[in-house]
This record gives sequence, structure tokens and C-alpha cells, in this order.
Amino acid sequence: MTPPSTAATARIFCIANQKGGVGKTTTAINLAAGLATHGKRVLLIDLDPQGNATMGSGIDKSTVQSNLYQVLIGEATIEQARLRSVTGGYDVLPANRELSGAEIDLVGMEDRELQLKHAIVSVRADYDFVLIDCPPTLSLLTLNGLAAAHGVIIPMQCEYFALEGLSDLVNTIKRVHHHINPELMLIGLLRVMYDPRVTLQQQVSAQLLSHFGDKVFRTVVPRNVRLAEAPSHGMPGVVYDKTSRGAQAYIAFGAEMIERVTPGKV
Ligand code: ATP
Ligand code: MG
Repeated sequence: MTPPSTAATARIFCIANQKGGVGKTTTAINLAAGLATHGKRVLLIDLDPQGNATMGSGIDKSTVQSNLYQVLIGEATIEQARLRSVTGGYDVLPANRELSGAEIDLVGMEDRELQLKHAIVSVRADYDFVLIDCPPTLSLLTLNGLAAAHGVIIPMQCEYFALEGLSDLVNTIKRVHHHINPELMLIGLLRVMYDPRVTLQQQVSAQLLSHFGDKVFRTVVPRNVRLAEAPSHGMPGVVYDKTSRGAQAYIAFGAEMIERVTPGKV
């Protein structure tokens, strides 16, 4: 008997939080690299016109031939636009500021929120994981990400105002689940840039655990300067200094994600 087909099995996750600078891109890059160290095939989609996930993966966003913008407006396929992150060991669908024009171009299109979902179909069999680095907005671009995904990973800092923004995002996820994508789930909240010496962070972390229970990932990513230095070297922190506490946390987070997506769980 032939083993069950693994075609079309890639699990697709958005890394999202409409708050800026909370660690979305750092999480996207290092989870991609972390999953690659566990032998997984990963595509990282840069859904942010800032192009930080592209640059942090060692790809020059200004010289790419085609990027996510052309894919969304139907002028290129993902097969044509994807590039290899040699440093990270995963593929990247790059982005640059051209992508900000997609918001306007998409508005007049039918199924404007489903363009990314449609584009991913033809490459799903090539990967175990597709990660989507969302911009710090709840825009049409982010909606394309949420419509294409099975789940959302929310990186957050354990600060007072973090909880406030969270309810908007959770409500958006519920609405998308209800109206556009019934597969979409909140996979989990990832505590990042964590400093256990700060009492407020301990308190917010405890609050998160009591509100969200096992929706809070076990892995906690510490504040670690090696993770912040890595993008300027065009590589994930996981590769730049594998022994650093930040890198080790993201490798552990990769293992936790693999455990969460075992069949039947996500
Ligand atoms: P944006 O909303 O602009 O897309 P973002 O949510 O993607 O931002 P990042 O770019 O990942 O956030 O991180 C913001 C800043 O914090 C960056 O300078 C990054 O290097 C730094 N940073 C992220 N995570 C950590 C960490 N665990 N330790 C130290 N610095 C970190
Ligand atoms: Mg970012």
C-alpha cells in the first residue's frame, strides 16, 4: 500500500499583531529558521511593505525581480517570485515598498481578500510550513494573510497596553473565521522580549495565562541582543548565534509548533 499522500499538507500560519515593533518579524524569521533546523521545509511570505522579513533573511529587497505585489495582482506566480534564504535554509516570497500599492489595486478586484490564498495553492505541496509575516495593521493585506491561514500566532510583549490591543485582534480573527475562513484559529500567544526581572512583565504574563490558558505557548522568548543584531548581518538570530538564549528559545518554539500541528491538533 502506498503511504498517505503528503501533497497539500503545508500548514499555514500568520504571525500577526497590529501593534508595531512587538517582534512579529523577528518571530517569523527565527521560527522559519528554527523549523528548518528541525528538517522542515518552510516558505516565509513577507506581507509587509517594510520588507524586514526579506532583508533579515539575507535577501536585498530592492533588487528582487518580482515580489509579493506582482503575485497578488496576478502578474507573477509564487514559483516565479520565491527566493532561497541561503543563510536561513528556507524559501522567501519577498516584499518591498511596491507592496503598499497592492491595497489600492486589490480594492477593485473580485475576491480581493482571497488573492494570497489562491496563490499559495500551487506551492502548498512544496512545504511543511508556510509562515506569513503580517504588517502592523488590520488592513486588506493582513486580511489576505488571515484568509489564507489555518492559524494565527500572536507575538506580544508583556506590557500593560499589550492586553488592550489583543482584544481587537482576537475579534478580527473571530470575524474572519466567521465570514471568510472557517479554518482560521488562534494558535497561540507567544511572549517575546521577556525580562523576568520586571515585575509588571511577570504580572501581565500571569494574567495572560489565566485568561488564555493553553493558548499561551510554553516557550518564552527572552530579550536578547543577539536576535536584534542578526538582521544587520542578513541572517536569522537562530543562525547568527545558535547558542544564544534567543536562538535557543526560537529553536524550542519550532519544536513546540511541530508538536501543536501533529495531525488532528491544528
Ligand atoms: P513592525 O510592526 O514594524 O513590523 P515587528 O512587530 O515585526 O515590527 P520586529 O521588527 O520583529 O517587530 O522587532 C522590533 C525590534 O525589536 C527590532 O529592532 C528587533 O530586532 C527587536 N527585537 C525583537 N525581538 C527581540 C528580542 N527577543 N530581544 C531583543 N530585541 C528584539
Ligand atoms: Mg515586522
